Amino acid sequence: ATPAAIMTGTGRAAELGVLFRKGEALQTLRDVALIAFDKTGTVTLGKPQLTDFVTAPKAKKDKVLALVASVEALSEHPLARALVEAAKAQGLAVSPCSKFVSVPGMGVSGVVGKKKIAVGAARYMDSLRFDAGIFAAEASRLSAEGKTPLYAAVDGAVAALLCVADAVKPTSADAIAALHDMGVASAMITGDAEKPAQAIAARVGIDRVIAGVLPDGKVESLKRLRQDKKIAFVGDGVNDAPALAAADAGIAIGAGADVAIEAADVVLMSGDLAKVPAALAISRATMRNIA
Ligand code: ADP
Ligand code: MG
Repeated sequence: ATPAAIMTGTGRAAELGVLFRKGEALQTLRDVALIAFDKTGTVTLGKPQLTDFVTAPKAKKDKVLALVASVEALSEHPLARALVEAAKAQGLAVSPCSKFVSVPGMGVSGVVGKKKIAVGAARYMDSLRFDAGIFAAEASRLSAEGKTPLYAAVDGAVAALLCVADAVKPTSADAIAALHDMGVASAMITGDAEKPAQAIAARVGIDRVIAGVLPDGKVESLKRLRQDKKIAFVGDGVNDAPALAAADAGIAIGAGADVAIEAADVVLMSGDLAKVPAALAISRATMRNIA
């Protein structure tokens, strides 16, 4: 690749809002056979909302939601924001929380008043040895709709199922279709549970799903997908940084976390996934001209 061609290519990309941080990334991207996407904030808007809330027979809904919000108020996770906002919308007060613990990829816990609260994924309840069986059927049904089931335990008993849903970005499906037309396969790597992940992937046409991945497992998942092909990874979050660095081409969303942008080879100035096939097209055109 001549420096002049690379400059022209990166210049054209920049006009479209695609920043190549390194010239070589133009070349790497051309050879990519598969692109893996993070789910939340990448394929979806990253603005989850509480959609369903079911409590155990003796639990008081308002009380449970207030307790949940009091713990989640200390978490930075997008799911936490959804729960706190839902409580506020109901006019519920957030109380002080002590002994706050955040377990990445699992959930959070803390003490509010005299009650011990834990909120998180099914595997978090499992790890605490709390039985969420009473909500199994309901969670399964809602998961199939692409909703993420969360459980709230009060003093060791699972008291509620809270489902949170995050809409897919309007252009995600077209972007994936464009990549497929260009002969590039797609995959999704997410910490979310299998069922909601599969439902979201199906909605946008993503071929393969690796779900239930703990934050430090994204690189391992990427290696499993890579085998002997070149692969790109698109992500926005703090826990996407290692995968962005490990991929042949790391593509970060500009509105994402600073560490994600720093780890990436390419930065998309908007969160619009249409920029991914656009970047690929420019890399191919540039390399064709100089081959
Ligand atoms: P993602 O790939 O969607 O960013 P994470 O690794 O951040 O996934 O989280 C994986 C799962 O862990 C979430 O889907 C959720 O079930 C649970 N979880 C993580 N943080 C929280 C939290 N603050 N409150 C409730 N659940 C959480
Ligand atoms: Mg994300």
